[in-house]
Amino acid sequence: MRPARALIDLSALRHNYRVGRELGGQRALAVIKADAYGHGATRCAQALLPEADGFAVAFLEEAIALREAGIGAPILLLEGFFEESELELIGRHNLWTAVAADWQVDAIARATPPQPLKVWLKLDSGMHRLGFAAGDYHAAWRRLHALPQVGEVVLMSHFARADELDSTRTVEQLAVQAQACAGLPSKLSISNSPALLAWPQAHSDWARPGLMLYGASPFGTVAQAQAARLQPVMTLESRVFAVRELGVGEPVGYGGCFVTARPTRVGVVALGYADGYPQFAPNGTPVTVDGHAAGTIGRVSMDMLTVDLTDLPEAGIGSRVELWGKQVPVTEVAAHCRSSAYTLLCGLKRVPREYV
Ligand SMILES: *Cc1c(COP(=O)(O)O)cnc(C)c1O
Repeated sequence: MRPARALIDLSALRHNYRVGRELGGQRALAVIKADAYGHGATRCAQALLPEADGFAVAFLEEAIALREAGIGAPILLLEGFFEESELELIGRHNLWTAVAADWQVDAIARATPPQPLKVWLKLDSGMHRLGFAAGDYHAAWRRLHALPQVGEVVLMSHFARADELDSTRTVEQLAVQAQACAGLPSKLSISNSPALLAWPQAHSDWARPGLMLYGASPFGTVAQAQAARLQPVMTLESRVFAVRELGVGEPVGYGGCFVTARPTRVGVVALGYADGYPQFAPNGTPVTVDGHAAGTIGRVSMDMLTVDLTDLPEAGIGSRVELWGKQVPVTEVAAHCRSSAYTLLCGLKRVPREYV
């Protein structure tokens, strides 16, 4: 059997959720969109079910998959609905939906939900992606609030740069939020992971932690005290299944992107870019081999990659290689590859997940 696998540590997931809720102070929706950032949404939801206040996914299909798996807890659709016809299913599955545009308010006004809807009214406080402009926000709230189809309105906004610890943008967005929401007697939800971890002034009634649940820092490799409390959830690992002994001046792999500068022992690892490992990870991207630091060499292939075992004489066929996880932070791999922990975790493919 191919030795590649992703170990998912569900107790680390629960620990990270508790950190998020403690920092938020109030309630927290565990964001498990994109198959829980590659960790498996259903299993993650089941693991968090006893303590989570609810879940958030991007869109209806993701939520229905959770309902069909027996998850009865609250689920928010962060992107709302794309077509009016989705409202019927939103009502039937008792989902919460974001609303970010007038046409969605019109659609709700025509709907006949079996119970009043809980609607998260999205404010564009500076992200400039989705949501009502600050000047239109009160009017949208009043319209929604007056509808018999609507039970509760939650005020919602999203930060564009909370992961940048020295950016003034988060404070600017907070000011826009405070002004746009002033006088509205509704609960507020603004904090994503970086806001929870680094911007205590941003805390609100409903936090929305995503990446931090999976134990990766949204600040990349920049040290941050609260992020240091997180525990990595996914460990991506495989094994060396072939070894080559090469002399000096020998190219390794596609494109000859690495040429040996010394007699080199090359370990061939059963994991490649079709599994979600970055194809263009540069030479020296960190891995561990049987717990010892090592680095990749040569271009990553579809199904395998190569590592330098020259300084690890004990290592050989069967050695365990960690690509990211408890020993190799995914943020470090991302930094080497000019990628992000979000992209790497969500990009996991083909590798079987084992839950521990
Ligand atoms: C994805 C998402 C989150 C979670 O963001 P993280 O940075 O992963 O914590 C929160 N809110 C909204 C609206 C999102 O789309």
